[in-house]
Amino acid sequence: MSGWVVVAGLGPGDEALITDEVRAALAGATDVVGYIPYVKRVAPRDGLTLHASDNRVELDRARHALEMAAAGRRVVVVSSGDPGVFAMASALFEALEAGPREWLSLDIRILPGITAMLAAAARIGAPLGHDFAAINLSDNLKPWDLIEHRLRLAAQAGFAMAFYNPRSKSRPHQFARALEVLRTEAGGDTLITFARSVTKPDEEITTVTLNEATPEMADMRTLVIVGNRDTRAVGRWIYTPRSAS
Ligand code: SAH
Repeated sequence: MSGWVVVAGLGPGDEALITDEVRAALAGATDVVGYIPYVKRVAPRDGLTLHASDNRVELDRARHALEMAAAGRRVVVVSSGDPGVFAMASALFEALEAGPREWLSLDIRILPGITAMLAAAARIGAPLGHDFAAINLSDNLKPWDLIEHRLRLAAQAGFAMAFYNPRSKSRPHQFARALEVLRTEAGGDTLITFARSVTKPDEEITTVTLNEATPEMADMRTLVIVGNRDTRAVGRWIYTPRSAS
């Protein structure tokens, strides 16, 4: 039997948000590859080998998946949310680009999932109803100066924003700096939502103004949404009108 690689998104956490095509790919796989907590979400069964690895080894993981597919195995690489959003799909193509030419004829498919930003937005209303920017605040793969530059320009341009990887133990000060930049560029009254563990049992969602926001409100399980100047509350909902003021 010939091999294939599927890079699949498992959605934000709730089982009901895994698509049917991702379930079908997992049911037909011989191997599942991914970061430990994501692989844990896949039920073990006979004939399925689970390859869980630590974070920060994305390229090794992608290469391993391609090697196994080339050897005839049916491999699903799992990401949380959507695999194309700050996740494994790009890593797979990076490994493909650096690998042997024969890999270009492999059967590769990317199966989308519901990304954290959209799950979080849906919980609070429609904060991303107008133009918005999605920004990864981790400086593992890009310099902090570039992140700050993009934040500043996105706020000046009036984009609502969604921040992934907002704050980790290894870089606790940068999110504080991000909040300072946003207060200056977008104004202290702008609404900011901290959506933690969205669709999971420990989900917690808080909306405050930028003036009230503190860095401790975010961690690595939080997706942060900052509104634009028109973003507002209606009852318990937050929304951004489709027209700009
Ligand atoms: N590919 C993923 C994002 C991976 S980056 C996706 O499309 O969602 C990891 C970051 O995503 C986390 O630091 C956090 O900011 C966000 N995230 C992922 N799942 C989340 C969830 N259930 N609730 C809140 N944020 C989440």
